[in-house]
Amino acid sequence: MSEESLSLARSDARNPWLIDTRELGRRAGSSRTVRREVPVDVALGVPDVITIPAGSTITLDLLLEAVVEGVLVTGTAAAPTEEHCSRCLDPGTGEVEVELTELFAYPESTTEETTDEDEVFRVVDDKLDLAPLVRDALVLALPLVPLCDEDCAGLCSGCGVKWADLDPGHGHETIDPRWAALVERLEDTPGEQPADGSDR
Ligand SMILES: [Zn+2]
Ligand SMILES: [Zn+2]
Repeated sequence: MSEESLSLARSDARNPWLIDTRELGRRAGSSRTVRREVPVDVALGVPDVITIPAGSTITLDLLLEAVVEGVLVTGTAAAPTEEHCSRCLDPGTGEVEVELTELFAYPESTTEETTDEDEVFRVVDDKLDLAPLVRDALVLALPLVPLCDEDCAGLCSGCGVKWADLDPGHGHETIDPRWAALVERLEDTPGEQPADGSDR
């Protein structure tokens, strides 16, 4: 028995996403907490916009509950992020956290038999594979337009310098003098508007 649990611990150590449910048992109502730090091997997210970087860790704080149809997983997953502000492009760091509520159906449960494999997660060999659930949830929770600050003013469109670094009152000539003459000429040209609606 102790040898078996040792080998399970080893296999869990090899794949930290796998949770063995044998300890939980199948009596509906029994529960177990799982706290785990899972190393991130490959960055998740959108490169150059926002990622959960490789080398960081995802922190799982979960409750597993045996229910009639399977194992209900609730709790949170959290991870650090590295991003570039989409207005001023400054690099920054942050954190993403998601709430999870997901059923892993037992083999031969009604849920298992009445759903497609990609609809509901499954308990396979008494184990839960949390990787797809947690990775997808975290990536979906990443902001598509990360900002260093809600009020970030971004970059001056004239010179590309951050507004935060520019003097108050900074500005550019709105029209390059070389173009000004052309603009004047265009403004003098009468618009070619149809006299009436006859040429529809
Ligand atoms: Zn910014
Ligand atoms: Zn400028």
